[in-house]
Amino acid sequence: MSGYSGGYDAIVVGLGGMGSAAAYRLAERGLSVLGLDRFGPAHDRGSSHGGSRITRQAYFEDPAYVPLLQRAAELWDQASVESGRSLVDWTGGVMVGRPDGPTVAGSLASAREWGLEHELLEAPAIRSRFPQLRPSDTDVALVERRAGVVNPEESVRAHLSLARRAGARLHHGETVLDWTSTGHGVRVRTDHGVYSADKLVLAPGAWATEVIADLGLPLQVERYVQFWFAPDDPAAFAGHPVWIWEGENDRQAYGFGAGEDGTVKVAFFRGGAPCDPHSVDRTVYPGEVDEIATFVGRHVPGAVRNFVRAKTCLYTCTPDHHFVIAPHPGHDDVVLACGFSGHGFKFVPVVGEIVSDLVADGVTRHPIGLFDPTRPALVRTPEHVA
Ligand SMILES: Cc1cc2nc3c(=O)[nH]c(=O)nc-3n(C[C@H](O)[C@H](O)[C@H](O)COP(=O)(O)OP(=O)(O)OC[C@H]3O[C@@H](n4cnc5c(N)ncnc54)[C@H](O)[C@@H]3O)c2cc1C
Repeated sequence: MSGYSGGYDAIVVGLGGMGSAAAYRLAERGLSVLGLDRFGPAHDRGSSHGGSRITRQAYFEDPAYVPLLQRAAELWDQASVESGRSLVDWTGGVMVGRPDGPTVAGSLASAREWGLEHELLEAPAIRSRFPQLRPSDTDVALVERRAGVVNPEESVRAHLSLARRAGARLHHGETVLDWTSTGHGVRVRTDHGVYSADKLVLAPGAWATEVIADLGLPLQVERYVQFWFAPDDPAAFAGHPVWIWEGENDRQAYGFGAGEDGTVKVAFFRGGAPCDPHSVDRTVYPGEVDEIATFVGRHVPGAVRNFVRAKTCLYTCTPDHHFVIAPHPGHDDVVLACGFSGHGFKFVPVVGEIVSDLVADGVTRHPIGLFDPTRPALVRTPEHVA
């Protein structure tokens, strides 16, 4: 399509994890929706690829996320049924570390605050319940059943197909160049044409600083690597709970049970190098494989025996690692969903619901105060501006 086309209720920019779910929820509410993405469906250049993402309920990042996680869990099951795809596998989850470290103590605090079902295991019990895990004598683990794996590519495809079924028009391979909010709606210019709508949703992932340039949000894009290994005994990892391990210097790695091909995926959670999404180095180097194999090899040795492959992926981090989900502070007709800081995927369906509330009603019943783009942590300091 080219030239001027008008009249959508809402345009969604970015059809990755968040935008695909938003497009679906908006179309399901009866709005006419145009979705735009610069790349193809479920592509591997952003943040929503690699076959698996951890979902859990006990949340060391902040207990304020728990009600959103509870709603997301319901919606993952619902979206699986609606799309006929298997989007979530509730394998359970094990969070290991020292008792007073951020991972275990933080998860425990949120579980207690919200009355979440959980167990706390000492090292001997961890070893006997999960023989692949090798805790030190001082490690403990928080175990929860309502944790597991969501599949990012399947989620994007499912939400795109549900959106299309509900009437949304979705254009892939079309890059948004700029947008304006006129006070009577929005206008979006792409490399193919110009579109207008009453409302605009911006869910551009790692490209947020250029798509939401006017706000100058202090977002840092970081490069991470997902590694796959072939265990000698894949059966020992079949259906294994997801795990997060806090090791030396509070560094966290995490991993999954064996996939259909018998491989297991592991990765570091934080410590990625700052990068630009347009020029990020997507090569993975032998030193990086050695680093993860050494770290995980101390704790889950069977998981990192035979290296198979690796793939880079991007986080878009706010300074406090909390999301940005809110109406644009300067434009009532624009809704922002960005800055997911490497832990957003498990929230995808509830983010879709929140965004559709904000677009259709201007408010949401969900607690999103933590995600305010005008919070002090996001105010730019003079050196950011320079
Ligand atoms: C290695 C790794 C592991 C992770 N593990 C977990 C985990 O275990 N659990 C968890 O909850 N989260 C995890 N995350 C985080 C989670 O995957 C992200 O928070 C989530 O995928 C972000 O989704 P998004 O929609 O913001 O970005 P994306 O899915 O990247 O979507 C953004 C879209 O915007 C499009 N776009 C950008 N600019 C334009 C433009 N100008 N015009 C048109 N389209 C545009 C892009 O093409 C892209 O498709 C992980 C992330 C990575 C990288």
